[in-house]
Amino acid sequence: MQQFHPEIRVRFAPSPTGPMTLGNARTALFNWLFAKHMNGSFVLRIEDTDVARSHKDHERDLISALSWIGITWDEGPSVDGSEGEHGSFGPYRQSARTPIYEEYLRDLLKRGLAYRCFCTKEQLEADAASAVSRGIPHIYSGRCRHADQSDHVQRPSVIRFAMPLRRIVFTDYIRGEVVFDTATIGDIVIAKDERTPLYNFAVVVDDERMRISHVIRGEDHIANTPKQIALQEALGFATPIYAHLPLILASDRTKLSKRTADISILNYQQRGYLPEAIMNFLAFLGWHPHGVESEKELFTPLELMRSFDLSRVQKAGAVFNPEKLDWLNGQHIKALPIAELYQYCLPFLLSDNRQHSHSFSSQQLMGIVRLVRDRLTVLSDVRSETEFFFQLPSYEKELLVWKTDSIEHTHAILRRVRELFSSISEDECTAHFLSPAFEPLISEHGKGSVLWPVRVALSGLRGSPGPFEIAEVLGVAEVIRRLDHALTLSS
Ligand code: GLU
Repeated sequence: MQQFHPEIRVRFAPSPTGPMTLGNARTALFNWLFAKHMNGSFVLRIEDTDVARSHKDHERDLISALSWIGITWDEGPSVDGSEGEHGSFGPYRQSARTPIYEEYLRDLLKRGLAYRCFCTKEQLEADAASAVSRGIPHIYSGRCRHADQSDHVQRPSVIRFAMPLRRIVFTDYIRGEVVFDTATIGDIVIAKDERTPLYNFAVVVDDERMRISHVIRGEDHIANTPKQIALQEALGFATPIYAHLPLILASDRTKLSKRTADISILNYQQRGYLPEAIMNFLAFLGWHPHGVESEKELFTPLELMRSFDLSRVQKAGAVFNPEKLDWLNGQHIKALPIAELYQYCLPFLLSDNRQHSHSFSSQQLMGIVRLVRDRLTVLSDVRSETEFFFQLPSYEKELLVWKTDSIEHTHAILRRVRELFSSISEDECTAHFLSPAFEPLISEHGKGSVLWPVRVALSGLRGSPGPFEIAEVLGVAEVIRRLDHALTLSS
């Protein structure tokens, strides 16, 4: 009978051979949401056994990306990127676990459940070619199962697992019953030598030693599961519950392009996506809420934790829809408290030299952000949307003219507006004060004839926030400077 670890413990086990991709981030998130929902523990384990392909830079990228999205781990490497770690089941980097693997490898060798294989590359290539010519899959012949093991020091070898011939059946949490015949797998290589285990072996040892109860990972790992179960049985380990997450597909249901699939999720940070929006978006890559929430699309991290249900993850591929991500981002931007949004926008607002042309106080900058917030899809839009506050764009004098008005009439109105502004104090330069102050002029000439030229004079644009709101941010002196410019242009 299969035994399970009773406590809920999951792990995210990335290999630092590349940055944190979209797929990785989704796997991390589903593990995290499941753990949080079930009051379990979430472990971060760095699978860096492949020394040649593992890089500290990638490890740092993985850790920074998790922290940016807002995924925290109960056990694992320190979040500060140092070599430190926390938790009682470490080390949490496979490269520091060599003696543990060695012990189990020796045990399997001693019990004859693993053996050294001396086959040369040429022999294996010839076996593969022969399988191809006969139209059958290449499975290791088992040639060295009974070879003399004593001279392994002199001859190059690897360690293979003596795969028992049988059917392996497991119940995937998402996919239901999955059946494999080990005859189609053969004696897999589990280590290069006693101190160099390979992925399937190291994972099995770590999942047991870290008491992992549920293995939640991408569907691309499903073929590894029977290998891992066979190893667990040979080692007398418990078998975790497996849940294989659906593939992420492009909008046309084909494979995701490399540009989308392979880039670091931190690119989305640079492009102005909010971590809450990314989390919300990733959660919907294969999962949907149900019941009263089935129509709801906008979720905060806390709401996701409450609603997430692993058994509702779909089997079918999950479609990556960039428009949906943009929409979610805009919605999360609108939902943020203004002070927080301002902090997020600041790096984008001040990223060039525009502060030189006009310097604003942080209060004014926050006012600017508030004015354009509804126009933002990504945070970086704040640059183009607020350009005119920093520098008046050049515009044609015709733009100042409302509908059928004449340029002379427009000029006369702008002159009255200038008089109005030169008679008010800085404190009065607010939308609240300006709105009634403009009333007489508006009732005399009509709303469009007054407000249109003022708005264009202040923004230089066909579309922008209202003139009073802009004036409030710019202040009296700058308003007059811009009105003077419009007066010169229209004279
Ligand atoms: N290191 C593996 C990967 O990055 C993890 C596989 C697993 O979760 O077992 O794909």
